[in-house]
Amino acid sequence: MRPALAKIDLSALRHNLRRVRECAPAASVFAVVKADAYGHGAARLLPVLEQQADALAVACIEEALALRAAGATQPILLLEGVFAAEELALCAEHGFEISLHDPLHAGWLEAATLARPLKVWVKLDSGMHRLGVRPQALPALVARLRACANVDAELGVMSHMACADEPARPNTATQIACFAEATQGLGVRRALSNSAGVLHWPAAHHDWVRPGIMLYGVTPMVGHSGADDALRPVMTLSTALIAVKQLKAGESVGYSAAYTCAQDMRVGIAAIGYADGYPRHAPSGTPVLVNGQRSQLLGRVSMDMICVDLSAQPQAGIGDPVTLWGEGLPAEEVADAAGTIAYEMLCNLAGRVRVETVG
Ligand SMILES: *Cc1c(COP(=O)(O)O)cnc(C)c1O
Repeated sequence: MRPALAKIDLSALRHNLRRVRECAPAASVFAVVKADAYGHGAARLLPVLEQQADALAVACIEEALALRAAGATQPILLLEGVFAAEELALCAEHGFEISLHDPLHAGWLEAATLARPLKVWVKLDSGMHRLGVRPQALPALVARLRACANVDAELGVMSHMACADEPARPNTATQIACFAEATQGLGVRRALSNSAGVLHWPAAHHDWVRPGIMLYGVTPMVGHSGADDALRPVMTLSTALIAVKQLKAGESVGYSAAYTCAQDMRVGIAAIGYADGYPRHAPSGTPVLVNGQRSQLLGRVSMDMICVDLSAQPQAGIGDPVTLWGEGLPAEEVADAAGTIAYEMLCNLAGRVRVETVG
């Protein structure tokens, strides 16, 4: 059996959800589980989420339907709303809440025949300029939706922050002020915070928060790792050494002979590669753990294998454990070395990696 394994620790998920409550005690919680819970497998997290989150949030109706099929009973918010008018009836049938980012979609709602009114979150563009209506357009859109029989009376307004992971930049304070001003007196439920908002911007907490990455024990805050924000990694990706080589000075290892040994050295071959979701662009020097001790990647990442430095481990042999990220090695640090973000690495976990749920 191939040793590549993603261990999913539900006790870490419980801990991280408690952290959300500690940070934002007055807010209700949408657990963001889009992209199959950032690669963790949403279905296996549902028992914990049903206990500790108030609702779920995903990107689209396909993801929401998959959650219902897996047994999710909580409200589910579609963060990007619907992509076609036909989806509205399914949303009503399954109790999905939708974000609504364009007046076009208000027209779809007005023209629809629905089993019951939908809970709608109007998306406000408070400065990210991706989705949403401008503050000036908000009151009219809210009034229009209030007049629509297909819209539940409990209307919401949500917005998203562009730079909340970088506290030194002024953008977030501007967005928080814009959101507060635009929603003041509207009598709507309000949602602004992603994980960075939950962790570092109390003024952005409002009625509902939408943490994603922090649930998985990874911090969005630039330059931090999860432990700095008292989070615990949920996923630990590991494998084992399948070969050990004694190479001579001047010999190279792997594709393109990209790493050449400066002196005689021991090199390990571990069964993990880019087809497992390990980042192809991780360069020599990217940290890995071998037998729990820090080591480094050498040369190119192959589809199914990587090469690791065993200079400091003369005893290391075939079968010894190798950790790529998770417990003992923050995914944030690996992502940094590989020129990406931990979000992407987690989402890229491949279907062929065995998953074991613990805790
Ligand atoms: C993905 C997403 C979130 C969660 O973001 P994190 O940085 O993972 O906490 C929150 N809100 C919206 C609209 C999103 O798309």
